[in-house]
Amino acid sequence: MVPVGSVVISIDAELGWGFHDLDEPPRDRVESGRRGWESLLSILERHDVPATWAVVGHLMLEDCDGEHADHPAPPGWFERERTTWRERPDLRFGPDLVRAVVDSPADHEFASHTFSHVLFGDLETTRELAVAELERAQDLAADWGLALESLVYPRNDVGHREALADCGFHAYRGRSPTPDGVVGLLDSRLRNRSLLVEPSVDEYGLVNVPASLFLFGFEGPLRTVAESVWTDPMLAQARRGVDQAAAGDGVFHVWLHPNNLVSERDDARLEALVGYIARLRERTDLTVETMGSVAARVLESPADDSFPTPR
Ligand SMILES: [Zn+2]
Ligand SMILES: [Zn+2]
Repeated sequence: MVPVGSVVISIDAELGWGFHDLDEPPRDRVESGRRGWESLLSILERHDVPATWAVVGHLMLEDCDGEHADHPAPPGWFERERTTWRERPDLRFGPDLVRAVVDSPADHEFASHTFSHVLFGDLETTRELAVAELERAQDLAADWGLALESLVYPRNDVGHREALADCGFHAYRGRSPTPDGVVGLLDSRLRNRSLLVEPSVDEYGLVNVPASLFLFGFEGPLRTVAESVWTDPMLAQARRGVDQAAAGDGVFHVWLHPNNLVSERDDARLEALVGYIARLRERTDLTVETMGSVAARVLESPADDSFPTPR
């Protein structure tokens, strides 16, 4: 296989759905979903950097009854739609935002984050529910003339991979081999470790494109020490990953949620990183891929004979 160094950016795009099952959704994150989405989209567009947008399918709806009686989710799963978020369509629907991604000139991959953010690794999530979440997402995409090939599991909770393959998907984001957050940044042994990941084909013929780094895994009091974007330790770490991808054979896979962009300081971190990726793409052999293009490359590679041909 030809050595390839690439960067993948994946985005968990969910508005309220990332928090609807929590007793106390974090207010600043919930309220930042729309501003973050628009900001993220414009930064990527400005630098012509494509990303994998894993969108919660429910956001493609214009409206709903808040009941979803035909959906096999446990009782109460959609309760917030009928109670505290009843008058908050901006948290439950986002066809305008989804359309902006699909129409963007940056050639993004349109991917899935399930229909309603069900946790697939949860023991109470049946195969029936997993299939319903994936089929509903595929049906909505088909209504828009799209087909979903990649999935980002809600909270990276990997599960029901067989159902994923049966529902027409080819790729998913696997867990990062290194710990996210403060531990990963402050432990010097981890700090010096490679951030590159190796996509692999699993027993269902799905390509696992593991995460390298959660771009907002270092927050709270420690972050306030880093006053400017130039002393931001997370940005330094992410740039190191981009450097490694530019120099070597592997994928640096960074991810975030639109709602992580709570303030202009967060926009600045992303702007600095995406600008850096664009500059290195210009000056080196670095490429920017999506999860879908990584999967296509891996599945087409004749050298990959370690697994039987998918069904
Ligand atoms: Zn609904
Ligand atoms: Zn999510």
